[in-house]
Amino acid sequence: MAPSNRAWVMALLFGLILFVLASRSFSSKPYEGKAYNEFLADVQAGRVEQVRMGGNVIRATYAQGEQVQVIPLDVEYALDELRKANVPVEYVRLPGRPWWGGLVTGLLPAGLLIGYLWLMARPGAGGGQLFQFSRSRARLLGREENRITMKDVAGLPETKEELAEVIDFLRSPERYLELGARIPKGVLLEGPPGTGKTLLARAVSGEAGVPFYSISGSDFVEMFAGVGAARVRDLFERARASAPCIIFMDEIDAVGRQRGHGLGGANDEREQTLNQLLVEMDGFAAAEGIIVMAATNRIDVLDPALLRPGRFDRVVHIDPPDRGGRAEILLVHAAGKRLEPAVSLDDIAALTVGFTGADLANLLNEAALLAARRRKEAIGPAEMENAYERVVTGGAEKKRVISRQEKQRVAFHEAGHALVSRKLSHTDPIQKVSIIPRGRAAGYVLYRPEEDRRTQSRTEFLDFLTGILAGRAAEEVVLGDTSTGAANDLERATDLARRMVTQWGMAPELGPILVSGRDGASVGGVGAAPVFSERTAWTVDQAVRKLVHEGYQRAVDLLRRHRDALERVAHALLERETLSGSELEKLI
Ligand code: ADP
Ligand code: MG
Ligand code: ZN
Repeated sequence: MAPSNRAWVMALLFGLILFVLASRSFSSKPYEGKAYNEFLADVQAGRVEQVRMGGNVIRATYAQGEQVQVIPLDVEYALDELRKANVPVEYVRLPGRPWWGGLVTGLLPAGLLIGYLWLMARPGAGGGQLFQFSRSRARLLGREENRITMKDVAGLPETKEELAEVIDFLRSPERYLELGARIPKGVLLEGPPGTGKTLLARAVSGEAGVPFYSISGSDFVEMFAGVGAARVRDLFERARASAPCIIFMDEIDAVGRQRGHGLGGANDEREQTLNQLLVEMDGFAAAEGIIVMAATNRIDVLDPALLRPGRFDRVVHIDPPDRGGRAEILLVHAAGKRLEPAVSLDDIAALTVGFTGADLANLLNEAALLAARRRKEAIGPAEMENAYERVVTGGAEKKRVISRQEKQRVAFHEAGHALVSRKLSHTDPIQKVSIIPRGRAAGYVLYRPEEDRRTQSRTEFLDFLTGILAGRAAEEVVLGDTSTGAANDLERATDLARRMVTQWGMAPELGPILVSGRDGASVGGVGAAPVFSERTAWTVDQAVRKLVHEGYQRAVDLLRRHRDALERVAHALLERETLSGSELEKLI
């Protein structure tokens, strides 16, 4: 360390000691702190003997000699209480801080910061780390570390087909260039979270055997103006030096949102970053052997400039897997795990409609954890089933004490869902009803979906809506009261009804019309005007309300008509907590 550095360190240490001493000296108190409400209780109970008061602080001496200090929320009220309890109050000037106390506490952190910055910024000392801010945070995975290949990606045959060309180009760019073939510079992977976008990008680089620079959109969004843009510049510079390679920008929507809706600093910064990204993408020729890949689940919010030719001119959509895809994904993730022969991955695939690859990986992992906790040799059907419940309902919570009353309400609520779904003709069969709380749900009904549905009819939706509302309807029919337990149901029902009306043209009042802007309510910012009239908005509200009301009324009617069955199911639930599909069938 250079002599001048040592001097600085000494100065800092000295400052620190001063700070500690100073803060000691003006908080020297033999008084214990106490919560205000506890103190009031003590006053009312006559435990307080005497009080001294100054400014906003009360110091009390207790009958047993205990001394406490309280900050009253409401001085007037505290005084009233003290008067009622006949506690003598003495007004004093309680010792405050010395005048220089504020100076020390205020200036010292600033001094420390200046010293720190000065040390870090000096070339040589600390290597000028301060200015590393602008270096990109991209993580580089070399050929050796990135062992993920297309074998690790299950299903998605069309996607793999589309990416095969990119891989081939990265392996031998010359061949393409000699023929004058134009290769996309940018490939945007688009799809819901957990469908394997990040995985695919890594597999492309692993398969092509080229370096993989990955950075996430959120890494770019910094509070210092200009840092994001500098990072982009640096990222492309580094990539150029090691072409052919892949630059992967995960969650690009964090930087790539449409420009021009901004209000304030963070947006300026994001726009600068985005502009820099556009400049860099225009600035390199495909001949350089760099492919920029990006992933997003919100392509609708991306700035259109990103999708222009010469930028992300190829968009690859990724959907959640169908049954066959799910079976393949399960197979990939079951590879390192021991399963009992009784576990059928095909059955699980059939049961997990709507699961993404990430959900499935999670499912198998949960099952393995359960098997380990139960000291089992291999994962059995019981573990798979419990893991499934856990994934579907968002994980079991710590046990909570539930009153008998609440349990009864939950039992009628879930029995309502089950009974009404069972009485409607367009609903999935029920696998299980339970009043054991899981995640945020106080109870749940598990359905066994029969097949993948590509499209659904209005009749099916109406039944579904009725089933969702049946929980609350049962509470009202039986207990004559409603509770917060149905809040999530109401949200789902309203959301479904709204989509029926606005997206799928299922309300006769509006007819087959799509009611939403290009970006729907999602962008919402200052510039985004709705593309429908206020009258339409009003009609939509009416139609949504009507759908929900009618669904609710249907549920109430059904429950009134089958009141006996409802009671039977609810009482069985109270007794056994969980009913299987067939047990339910017998009761109904
Ligand atoms: P995304 O980036 O689309 O949100 P990820 O690529 O991060 O999703 O996927 C998360 C995890 O889910 C992966 O690491 C992988 O374990 C699993 N996964 C997702 N899709 C697949 C798939 N098609 N094949 C195998 N595993 C998958
Ligand atoms: Mg991802
Ligand atoms: Zn419910």
